[in-house]
Amino acid sequence: MLNLQGKVAVIFGLANKRSIAWGIAQKLHEAGATLAISYQNERMKSEAHQLIVDLPGAVPFQCDVSNDAEIDSVFGQIKEKFGKVDILIHSVAYAPAEDLKGDFVNTSRDGFRIAHDVSVYSLIALSRAAAPLMPEGSSIVTLSYFGAEKVVPGYNIMGVAKASLEATTRYLAYDLGRKQIRVNAISAGPIKTLAGRGVGSMSDMLKAHADRAPLHRNTDQLEVGGTAAFLASDLASGITGEVIYVDSGYSIMGF
Ligand code: NAD
Repeated sequence: MLNLQGKVAVIFGLANKRSIAWGIAQKLHEAGATLAISYQNERMKSEAHQLIVDLPGAVPFQCDVSNDAEIDSVFGQIKEKFGKVDILIHSVAYAPAEDLKGDFVNTSRDGFRIAHDVSVYSLIALSRAAAPLMPEGSSIVTLSYFGAEKVVPGYNIMGVAKASLEATTRYLAYDLGRKQIRVNAISAGPIKTLAGRGVGSMSDMLKAHADRAPLHRNTDQLEVGGTAAFLASDLASGITGEVIYVDSGYSIMGF
């Protein structure tokens, strides 16, 4: 049984009970970690806040990860309250809706910038803020998708941002490895979430995955949560810079 007793986990990206962040929160909680959970803004607060306060011991925070002052403020509060961070979960992504439909060649300059700022640079900024609070053996986990590696029609600019996120995972793993901090990505199969619904072809993606994946079904949030808990634990002490697929095996198929 995985044991995260005495570990402090900070999770970014909770919107509602369908969020992958919620699947991860449940699994980290089950393993005994103390949780700090952050939502984006007042709009997200309505559903996220109640979920957090209903989870015994969990503490809510608000932070827009595209805002450096808000990141500083959250980690200041976390330092004061917990004194350390053992686990950082980055489950955040955004691209403007108009850049997630139509032809990729029409991606706007602003859409490209915003997608990379919110979905990729935020991992660097959060890791930099967390690292001074992280003891040896700490773990950072981010969320990616297959569209980083192969063309998924309609995923467009998010695919390019996820490719950058996976490269960022490797560069951070190299830097922070000196401090014995591990950095990994989980590439999750498609899941119906708020962000997932923003991808136009979601229902086709879900069907194709269930049809073609070796396990012949879709992936759920708790399966991603289980792998995040493993990566956060000492059982994964030798793993860093990796992209681990939790997708019912879909990504191994050639046809
Ligand atoms: P979700 O909508 O529940 O979570 C996305 C979160 O990002 C939301 O909580 C949103 O508030 C947050 N966010 C967006 N912009 C932000 C900002 N500026 N500051 C702070 N937070 C911000 O959807 P999800 O599917 O759980 O997404 C979580 C992660 O998983 C994302 O990185 C997503 O790309 C990735 N992912 C999702 C799927 C899927 O099919 N749902 C598959 C693979 C990877």
